[in-house]
Amino acid sequence: MKQVGIISGKGGTGKTVLTASLATLAENAVFADCDVDASDLHLLLQPKVTTAEDFAGGEEAVIDPVLCTGCRECLDVCRFDALSMNEESVAIVDSYACEGCRTCSLVCPENAVSMQRKTAGQWFRSESSYGPMLHARLIPGEDNSGKLVTKVKNEAKSLAVEKNKDWILVDGPPGIGCPVLSALAELDYVIVITEPTPSGYHDLNRVAEVIKQFRIRAGVVINKHDLNPETASEIEALAGKLGFDMAGKIPFSRNVGEAIRQGVPYIKYAEDEVSRAILSVWETIQDFLFEERVGADTPANNINTKEQER
Ligand code: SF4
Ligand code: SF4
Repeated sequence: MKQVGIISGKGGTGKTVLTASLATLAENAVFADCDVDASDLHLLLQPKVTTAEDFAGGEEAVIDPVLCTGCRECLDVCRFDALSMNEESVAIVDSYACEGCRTCSLVCPENAVSMQRKTAGQWFRSESSYGPMLHARLIPGEDNSGKLVTKVKNEAKSLAVEKNKDWILVDGPPGIGCPVLSALAELDYVIVITEPTPSGYHDLNRVAEVIKQFRIRAGVVINKHDLNPETASEIEALAGKLGFDMAGKIPFSRNVGEAIRQGVPYIKYAEDEVSRAILSVWETIQDFLFEERVGADTPANNINTKEQER
């Protein structure tokens, strides 16, 4: 079984559009939407939810109004301004502000404070036309996205092992934060999708620093490459310098927006240059994944060689 992730330095680069199309091409696969802060792979794969479970995040303080005498000692020690007094002079907790540090429970002379697990989101197991899918939704304001990503990935792996699947496709979170680190763990290959803009170039450099820590083979896909061929060439050269494969270049098409509006993976929406480019990405990364890397005449090695010759 191979695990392939698709990530980007920032949102809006076409990551989920690419993932949804790859999902239609990957036979015998499980899909994991690890962009738990803004999951939207389900909008394109249109799965039916078969299981939904709460995800417990951190703790929060809960105050027993019968025991609370209103002494305000807890208010004085809360560094997160999560406590206030109500009209009955009983302490109350702002659930969003409470960081679960337990300090208030330690100082309360009446033992009026207890700590309880709070629900940070939900995770789902679903069935799509293309295969089973794991996804999740983090409650706005909750900061346990790294843990929820790990939960989604672990559930996807368990399912893949149980069903003897050949692939896990991971739609990773954008950026370089904790959720990305969770998404990268155990991947066999990671695709970084970017756009031919100065920020796309910059983001590729930032993401590369993170990928290096995991020693995962990586390939770059330049989305809308034809909108700025000069910067696209610079990104291609950068991919070579970073030791990344050049996994593909996808042209711009106004049809992509319409496919999203209709909730259809692009490759099922149109047979055109965009679809052919996406198909080529899938074939290319399979070649990279199953070839002998050392000394192989790979496109990545060719790029590196060309860079060295310059
Ligand atoms: S647990 Fe910590 S953050 Fe939450 S209310 Fe108590 S002191 Fe404040
Ligand atoms: S320290 Fe305890 S008794 Fe005092 S206000 Fe806070 S919860 Fe109430």
